[in-house]
Amino acid sequence: MDEQYRLLLKQAMKYSCAYLDAAGERPPYPTEEALSVLSEFEEPLSEEGTSPEDILSLLHRCGSAATTGNMGSRYFGFVNGNLLPAAHAAAWVADTWNQNSALYVMSPVAARLEDLCERWMVNLLHLPEGTAMGLTTGSSNAIICALAAARNELLRRQGWNLPQQGLRNAPPIRVVLGEEAHASVKAALSVLGIGGEDVEVVPTDDRGRMRLDCLPELDDHTLLILQAGNMIGGAYDPIDALCDRANQAGAWVHIDGAFGLWAAASRRQYPLVAGLEKASSWSLDAHKTLNAGYDCGIVLCRSRECLASALQFNGSYIQYSSQCRDGASYTTDMSRRARAVPLWAALKSLGSRGVEEMVDAMCDHAAYFAQELKKAGFIVPAPAVFNQAVVKCDTPEKTAAVLKLVQNSGVCWCSGCEHRGEPLIRLSVCSYTTTREDIDKSAAVFRQALAAVSEKQG
Ligand SMILES: *Cc1c(COP(=O)(O)O)cnc(C)c1O
Repeated sequence: MDEQYRLLLKQAMKYSCAYLDAAGERPPYPTEEALSVLSEFEEPLSEEGTSPEDILSLLHRCGSAATTGNMGSRYFGFVNGNLLPAAHAAAWVADTWNQNSALYVMSPVAARLEDLCERWMVNLLHLPEGTAMGLTTGSSNAIICALAAARNELLRRQGWNLPQQGLRNAPPIRVVLGEEAHASVKAALSVLGIGGEDVEVVPTDDRGRMRLDCLPELDDHTLLILQAGNMIGGAYDPIDALCDRANQAGAWVHIDGAFGLWAAASRRQYPLVAGLEKASSWSLDAHKTLNAGYDCGIVLCRSRECLASALQFNGSYIQYSSQCRDGASYTTDMSRRARAVPLWAALKSLGSRGVEEMVDAMCDHAAYFAQELKKAGFIVPAPAVFNQAVVKCDTPEKTAAVLKLVQNSGVCWCSGCEHRGEPLIRLSVCSYTTTREDIDKSAAVFRQALAAVSEKQG
């Protein structure tokens, strides 16, 4: 390789290490000053181009401070994961390979690792043997893949071949989901030609769990969509009972468990998802709880045939392999980066015991966080579930003001939400590096913020 190229990669590594060295001190959300420096990127595209060295230097100088603290240990916003060292380094190597993981013939190593990860994931989550896996950008796309498989199969059972006959005159299928289904589920349904008015919405309880007593009669052309891990507080639908009802009726059950399905990998958390193996398809993210890095969504489908036939593509130039799976058969994408590499590295570095310990630690930290805030005078409407908790103050105005102070603290960062008309602060512990001390430091910030706001607002 060219010496300049080698130096460039070394420089990239230096900048990356400098970034990680400062991860502990950098505020988990960029300062106003860091955001204002982003204007330095603004320029017309030059005719002449820019040297790679100058590009890296600009990125380091003006870009790195305007990142959010996913790589730190006190970023509790949304459900954003950290990045395990093995996954990070393996992704670098895989980036260098620049493989297209669409087909075996395009990247034998990517195809083999994807095949291996499929078996590892199926075992880790205790899913039915033979379950097929596809690797996507994230859960949003994984859900589209799974629901496409569901829709086509429910139509096929009614004698309708969707890929050939289309949707226009298709017999109806029913879609049943909980009131608090994730926005990406609704987006996926819309992409698939199923609108809000086509959907039967089941009321949820005060935690956001689907109410069994409100479940409509199901049948064999119904798609039932469950949630394993609510974004607001972490609650799980009663999976076992709902799957039993669905299976008696011959309905298709999909479980959206973007961060929460990882409960299946922990003996302590497993009761949250008990019965999950009775579903027909599942989706989750390796970039959330597993900390395998962006972007890595996972779709799993009990019927390999249903998933592959819904996402089938054909062309005279396509060479399907007879030796190994072709990854593109299980997603909407053809050309894809080899995201099996970091996924494999993350799983291999942790082992099943390591995944379990990491998941348990996140859950313990979330519970401890909520408990400490309760002691500090916050209202904790319900105990933490999995790695999620929510807290509030005695008035909505105080909650909003405290959240603002916390977000500007430079110590930790949380996101807020509005739930049933009232603001809440979300605590989401998604980093393998978070320690009890991080929670103590963060709880201290909340305590100070509450004192300051109480003094002002009374
Ligand atoms: C994050 C999330 C999604 C969407 O996943 P992406 O990876 O962001 O596409 C879907 N459902 C739930 C419950 C989530 O938490």
